[in-house]
Amino acid sequence: MHTDHLPEEPWADRPALQQPSWPDPVSLRHVRDELAASPPLVLTQECDQLTRRLAAACRGEAFLLQGGDCAETFAQLDASAIHGKLTTLLQMATVLSYGAAMPVVKVGRLAGQYAKPRSKPTETRDGVTLPAYRGDAVNAREFTTDGRIADPHRLLRTYHASAATLNLARSFLGNGLANLRQAHLRNRGFAAGAPEHPRYAALAGQVEQAFRFMDACGATPQHAQAAEFFVSHEGLLLDYEAPLTRPACPAGPHYNTGGHMLWLGDRTRGLEHAHVEYFSSIRNPIAVKLGPTATPNEALALIDKLNPDHQPGRLTFITRFGANLVRDKLPDLVEKVSASGSPIVWVCDPMHGNTQATTNGIKTRDVDDILDEVTGFFEIHRDLGTHPGGIHVELTGTGVTECLGGSRPVTSGDLTSRYESGCDPRLNHYQALDLAFHIADLCLR
Ligand code: PEP
Ligand code: MN
Repeated sequence: MHTDHLPEEPWADRPALQQPSWPDPVSLRHVRDELAASPPLVLTQECDQLTRRLAAACRGEAFLLQGGDCAETFAQLDASAIHGKLTTLLQMATVLSYGAAMPVVKVGRLAGQYAKPRSKPTETRDGVTLPAYRGDAVNAREFTTDGRIADPHRLLRTYHASAATLNLARSFLGNGLANLRQAHLRNRGFAAGAPEHPRYAALAGQVEQAFRFMDACGATPQHAQAAEFFVSHEGLLLDYEAPLTRPACPAGPHYNTGGHMLWLGDRTRGLEHAHVEYFSSIRNPIAVKLGPTATPNEALALIDKLNPDHQPGRLTFITRFGANLVRDKLPDLVEKVSASGSPIVWVCDPMHGNTQATTNGIKTRDVDDILDEVTGFFEIHRDLGTHPGGIHVELTGTGVTECLGGSRPVTSGDLTSRYESGCDPRLNHYQALDLAFHIADLCLR
């Protein structure tokens, strides 16, 4: 006889928020069986390597750059979109590592970011109410009765789309994209027709100059030609994450093999809830988003549950308070967590606390607010003697007009011209580089 969950799933009896109601338990079971029989997307050794890298960020010896779409979509699964996102992340990493002399740990919000938590379970348009869109892993964005039905076969599509994305990312990175010597070429060749970022162009020239100098000294480092790259997504749909969770070896610890790093959203971090229990059962490096309602005691309880051995690099807190609250809320949290002595990678998500709607109801974010939250984050950690360990952002490699402002400003009148996000507004390529330079300046201050 089949059961809906395996007996070794201790989270199965706990409340699981933000889960779709799958209409057909039999198809769900088949999908879960097929996922469970599918090969891993990542290796457990790679997950452990990322934990070690994050341990360096914890000590202030590296900086985490985590970014990508709010929601990946099956429709945008194309080579140039993936190339653009990787290029943007690598250019940001070049700015940070060259501009601020800081090793950068590069983690995509990529190859698995297909499920979204929603503030309301339904959406109403013109008097019609349907289930909310929960990401391509669950249902369709189109506002139709059929489209909004949760379809478990989408979990299989999510797995295959993630595999294709990861395959292409590994190929791009293995074939020159990661070569620092190509920093200037990447800039020139970027998305034909897109404007060049002047500060980046200047920096790429300096990087090339530095390489020529090292060549002349016979000292060109080998690993300038390769970049370590990891992938992450929000661990939201337990019917997707659980079947991809396996022991590293018989009787060994369990890993989620669908991504190197998983994070818990601000809405699903309830201590007694299924998600926290699931996260406590995997060995991957994990993160928890902490928004304005998070208290220091909740954070301490999460540490006890998720990193009881206080392993450096295991647990990252991604704070997302908004520019208006970061200076009020972050100090107390950091102070009380630091007093516990448990190692934490402190990361700033300057996107999700700064979402606003225009008078026409368009969801956007202002680059000024984003930069201001990051500034507050750096200042507070500096004041407290803790390390600003990284940044978590929603970005794309193209010239979308979803966020306002930047050094080549997007105005409110521009927003509708190229708004392509399946969910939250992302920084465009140019705004992402603005942010990287801002962070490099803060690191040097
Ligand atoms: C997200 O990262 O897209 C998200 C929903 O974030 P949060 O859990 O911080 O609201
Ligand atoms: Mn988002």
